[in-house]
Amino acid sequence: MAKQKNGLLEHLRKGVVLCAEGYVFELERRGYVTAGSYVPQVVLEHPDAVAELTKEFLLCGSDVVVALTYYADKKKMSSVKQSSSTEKLNKEAIRIAKKQADVFNALVAGNISNTWAYNSEKAEESTKKIKGIYSEQVSWAKQLGVDYVIAETLGYYAEAKIALEVIKSYGLPAVITFSALSNKTFDGVPLEEACKKLEEDGALVVGLNCAKGPMTMMPLLKKIRKTCKGYIAALPVAYRTNKTHQNMLGLEEKKKKVFPLGLDPFVATRFEMARFAKKAKKLGINYVGVCCGGAPHHVRAMAEALGKKTLASKHSPDLSKHPVLGKKKTNDQKLTKLWKK
Ligand SMILES: [Zn+2]
Repeated sequence: MAKQKNGLLEHLRKGVVLCAEGYVFELERRGYVTAGSYVPQVVLEHPDAVAELTKEFLLCGSDVVVALTYYADKKKMSSVKQSSSTEKLNKEAIRIAKKQADVFNALVAGNISNTWAYNSEKAEESTKKIKGIYSEQVSWAKQLGVDYVIAETLGYYAEAKIALEVIKSYGLPAVITFSALSNKTFDGVPLEEACKKLEEDGALVVGLNCAKGPMTMMPLLKKIRKTCKGYIAALPVAYRTNKTHQNMLGLEEKKKKVFPLGLDPFVATRFEMARFAKKAKKLGINYVGVCCGGAPHHVRAMAEALGKKTLASKHSPDLSKHPVLGKKKTNDQKLTKLWKK
């Protein structure tokens, strides 16, 4: 008989849950997703590519497989003239996730995201529309047996509320995260307040994902940690956002914006992501991960910084074996030691 799997809550009680995201950006780099629409047609066109990346993230220590249903709602699917495949794509994404998760005894998360449909001037009408979009996706996730549902990259508090309500109505645990383009939601609620309200309304985990990199997400997380009582999520992009450009959309090279196609020179190192994971844990954050720009080597470094041994740790750096660098203590070796401490 298969071993009974623990749910998200049991994992959170035991320690930090590591969650690899960033599928859309990584699969775009690999040639399977169109930058612009970012609709994950890859799920139906090249399911093997999704399964492969999922496996890589799992080998590198992700405790969760996030089903690739980000931007796979009917509205987004219709933008690439694929709305009739919405159900098929959502279900296939969850099947891929479950198949890989079963091999590694990992959790499976359903995934919904910002819809771009909320309109505060037409609140009632847009709420109804979003409810319909979310209900459809969450009902498929429930049907196929996910462990919980993530609602992510949210900008409006109002939309986050709808997402939570829908996830709860299907009896599933909810992880709700905002994409912080400023310190407030688009509808003017300070992010720590928005997180607190969602937590009080029954979200299991609240927090931030996307937009901000490891260098700029921490101050906001500290505020959220202070304000909320429960579990907090922190999934930065793996880009070097900075004091001047606090989120990846603002990053510039030679005074020109580089988002989203010219971000490569700003990719964070594995050490930076590992340090972020350690700091987050110290701050009392129980749900840590990567978003856009994140790759398997980031995930492994973060896992090891959190004290986990991953299947891919067999191939973690050992520069003492390098024919040239092995002879002297390089900066890399020092850093490797630092994050393993
Ligand atoms: Zn992201």
